[in-house]
Amino acid sequence: MAALILVLGDQLTESLSAIRNANKGEDLILMAEVQEEATYVKHHKKKIAFLFSAMRHFAAHLSALDHNVNYIKLNDESNQGSLLEQVKYTLTQRSYDKVICTMPGEHRLLKSMQQWENVLGVPVTILPDTRFLSTPEEFSEWAEGKKQLRMEFFYREMRRKHNVLMDGRNPIGGKWNYDAENRESMPATHQVPSHSVFKPDDITNEVLTLVENEFSDHFGELDNFYFAVTREQALSVLETFLDERLENFGKFQDAMVEGKPWMYHSHIAFYLNCGLLLPKEVIGAAERAYHAGQVPLNSAEGFIRQILGWREYVRGFYWHFMPNLKTDNYFDNKRSLPTFYWNAQTNMNCMRQCIKETQQNAYAHHIQRLMVLGNFSLLTELSPEEVQAWYLLVYADAYEWVELPNVAGMILYSDGGNLASKPYVASGSYINKMSNYCKNCGYQVSKKTGPKACPFNYLYWHFIDKHKETLSNNPRMAMIYKTYGRMKSENIDAMKESALIFLTKLENNEEV
Ligand SMILES: Cc1cc2nc3c(=O)[nH]c(=O)nc-3n(C[C@H](O)[C@H](O)[C@H](O)COP(=O)(O)OP(=O)(O)OC[C@H]3O[C@@H](n4cnc5c(N)ncnc54)[C@H](O)[C@@H]3O)c2cc1C
Ligand code: SF4
Repeated sequence: MAALILVLGDQLTESLSAIRNANKGEDLILMAEVQEEATYVKHHKKKIAFLFSAMRHFAAHLSALDHNVNYIKLNDESNQGSLLEQVKYTLTQRSYDKVICTMPGEHRLLKSMQQWENVLGVPVTILPDTRFLSTPEEFSEWAEGKKQLRMEFFYREMRRKHNVLMDGRNPIGGKWNYDAENRESMPATHQVPSHSVFKPDDITNEVLTLVENEFSDHFGELDNFYFAVTREQALSVLETFLDERLENFGKFQDAMVEGKPWMYHSHIAFYLNCGLLLPKEVIGAAERAYHAGQVPLNSAEGFIRQILGWREYVRGFYWHFMPNLKTDNYFDNKRSLPTFYWNAQTNMNCMRQCIKETQQNAYAHHIQRLMVLGNFSLLTELSPEEVQAWYLLVYADAYEWVELPNVAGMILYSDGGNLASKPYVASGSYINKMSNYCKNCGYQVSKKTGPKACPFNYLYWHFIDKHKETLSNNPRMAMIYKTYGRMKSENIDAMKESALIFLTKLENNEEV
């Protein structure tokens, strides 16, 4: 019974049961660089180069382990352009008794795969993706009958279930969450360790040339390629993080500094999401670093919560709420993305820095994605569809299962509050507190209205005013609406006027 095993570009791990159980003498592992997946949104050049290079290295690794591997490069004559056509073509070359796939990270692809059997004429098995610590079914069971699906409670169950940072039934240290200690801005003189950079080898250099030639109209810069492209390299990124960054991860988690894109973050989502690292090993390593006294509890817990909590939660959330999650538009926002989302040309220094770093690195850290770019996208009423596509294409760690809940649920509130208990909106003072961006800005964060005022200030009150009917009943917005209620009507009107002038400029694609 020979099987044709399809391995996708984000499934680069021998731990997949399809690979573990492969019969090396008979089965064929098929991997392909296909135009359809690389271009259905115009992914960042660095993202495509990273994934193609990691795929090629992984295929070589499997071959060295004596697996039969058929690796189809983008420009190979036998490349059929889409996954289904590639599988179909391979079945015409030799007959296989069945096709084995592993659950993809995208609803669109899963729905398509579920129909493949009808087209291919051989049985198609879609195996669960066992890399995660929870299943979509477990999430749906947990969600059943709950009015609110708060991540914090899901996370506590995951801690208990997987016995992570636990002291019997209780959390180590007595608290589940140490976020109150994790909100420091960074002193001006603080030196952040440099991030891991890997010199491109021959495989990567070949891919870089390919991407330059084939995807030149895609977003982002290709030079200064830094990614790990093998498991060994990804493990070294993790080790360096544990040794040099985790200690300060907690306290500086929300800080932003001009010219310092990497801060104390781990930069491992790229590798976790494509299979080069496994979440369980990362959580175990961080827990051991805490027990060995190398890192404080607030850092270890804060980091583990992102992976055991948020990462698992958003995946469950994605499968639970798809396909509606992709089309929901609670605030009925329709504005197109301003041009500066593509070229970083704006006088708002915070937006300019975050977009510039995204162009350069295919990376921005969480607070840049959430409280600068995301905050602006919601306050300026951008179309959820366009914002979702942007986030999916610009970040090298972006796959729909993780990007969409963060964009639709967390930043845009377009699902109406299934994920977030309130919209994540803030005025310029938050950005000023957590960053040094405002010092070099064309706008003044202390000004509330008028042409020199920070746009986040009046856009924030415009949002609060516009949605008072729907949001003022939300208990988590009570303080904000209390403050709003005490504001003089002429001040509110002035904010609204400044906001409308700004939104009209955006509408007309004028420079802001
Ligand atoms: C609007 C928006 C879009 C996002 N899109 C993506 C995306 O496409 N892919 C992605 O992996 N993450 C996404 N995130 C979550 C988070 O910003 C990134 O995981 C993180 O910035 C990656 O960098 P890092 O590896 O240095 O993470 P760290 O800050 O070091 O965090 C450690 C790990 O925790 C996990 N994690 C942290 N926050 C989240 C979260 N909210 N959801 C899921 N996992 C999380 C990641 O695996 C990350 O590697 C998004 C967040 C926002 C607000
Ligand atoms: S003043 Fe406003 S627009 Fe400028 S950097 Fe600060 S928050 Fe951003």
